[in-house]
Amino acid sequence: MYDPKSMKAEEFISHEEILDTLAYAQENKNNEKLIDTILEKAKLRKGLTHREASVLLACEMPDKIQQIYTLAEQLKKDFYGNRIVMFAPLYLSNYCINGCVYCPYHAKNKHIARKKLTQEEIVKEVMALQDMGHKRLALEAGEDPVNNPIEYILECIKTIYSIQHKNGAIRRVNVNVAATTVEEYRMLKEAGIGTYILFQETYHKESYEQLHPTGPKHNYAYHTEAMDRAMEGGIDDVGLGVLFGLERYAYEFAGLLMHAEHLEAVHGVGPHTISVPRVKRADDIDPDAFDNGIDDEIFAKIIACIRIAVPYTGMIISTRESKEVRERALHLGVSQISGGSRTSVGGYCEEEPEDENSEQFDVSDKRTLDEVVHWLMDLGYIPSFCTACYREGRTGDRFMSLCKSGQIQNCCHPNALMTLKEYLEDYASPDTKKIGEALIQKELGNIPKEKVREITVHHLQEIEKGNRD
Ligand code: SAM
Repeated sequence: MYDPKSMKAEEFISHEEILDTLAYAQENKNNEKLIDTILEKAKLRKGLTHREASVLLACEMPDKIQQIYTLAEQLKKDFYGNRIVMFAPLYLSNYCINGCVYCPYHAKNKHIARKKLTQEEIVKEVMALQDMGHKRLALEAGEDPVNNPIEYILECIKTIYSIQHKNGAIRRVNVNVAATTVEEYRMLKEAGIGTYILFQETYHKESYEQLHPTGPKHNYAYHTEAMDRAMEGGIDDVGLGVLFGLERYAYEFAGLLMHAEHLEAVHGVGPHTISVPRVKRADDIDPDAFDNGIDDEIFAKIIACIRIAVPYTGMIISTRESKEVRERALHLGVSQISGGSRTSVGGYCEEEPEDENSEQFDVSDKRTLDEVVHWLMDLGYIPSFCTACYREGRTGDRFMSLCKSGQIQNCCHPNALMTLKEYLEDYASPDTKKIGEALIQKELGNIPKEKVREITVHHLQEIEKGNRD
């Protein structure tokens, strides 16, 4: 039985409903009239249902696919302008008691070096990240109640927020840790986290159980209902994701959108972000061992269809993907990217010895943050280190209603320019600084209200004098 308002995973992610959706999408993949109607609805910028979006994903007509891409790009511009939010992952610990077959942290992997950062090491890692210019982090940890209990995660968050290094502190700490209880989500909320991120990995229950044969993560319902508990614990912003490659992509796509519909139906606010990781090579892991790998073309189509289905949801792409893939994804809907990432525990301070390999997966985009910032600006994007929404309480449904009404752009654009200016003053290479300054001058002209433009110019001058927020 399908019921988006149900609190039971198997009802809001109903297997039968997904199969029915996939059959409907296959039947209609060349139904020009229906596809045109769905595209017309999407142009109203209020999103699509999982059934409608699944038809677009299945569509095989080249001219319609082109229209999907064009619309995705337009919606991206309408809701996010040309700003791209920057972040970096910080791996705290790779101790893990789960048996996830695609992840090198799985408990049976005896040759991976197990590491857990001490608070002193965290300070060093965070300073190294701050020296690059990062202001927004995503904390990552395996699931291990003995080595990484909630108290450890909370202590790490407290340490990170307390570090005042050179030009200020880390402004937003997002957290990607295993599904937990309402009580522990409340503690994370009180610790001041930004988004709570948890990838579903796969929405297909049977595959989920096979891919997570042992450990607490084996429990499909507990994992799938985690975002409801997080919201019950007071967390406003939650981030969904699927690990593409594990199951059939069309199944995952429908499940992902049903999950978003469920959150909206029950909590009045959909996901803050959606991540689109693909399975990568890692110690003990061969991505070819999974049958459902997707090529770059399908990957681009998924991104475009997510952008159209949930236009007000941020979309994240990590350094798992190459520069080329990321460039295309930015056009089609991605609004946040990581840069200069290390996926090993302690990786920002020290290169790992060859034999240790504690990386979670191979990074494809190995460029420095400065190179990524430079590249984004060459492409006409504004790299943004902004976290003003979070600090001003524009999270959860407040953020969503602003975003849905298109208002978020009115304050995001000047904020992005000011944080970019800070980055250019404090961290950029001379070449990056030069093109950044020119970009800021050009983009000032795109602030419609004269008063706002004047205030922005004033703040930019203050930043140049050395004043920091
Ligand atoms: N322990 C936490 C949990 O259970 O959700 C989360 C953290 S894990 C460090 C972050 C994510 O990395 C996982 O949710 C998974 O989707 C992804 N991941 C694991 N192995 C991967 C691989 N080989 N390639 C790409 N991504 C991978």
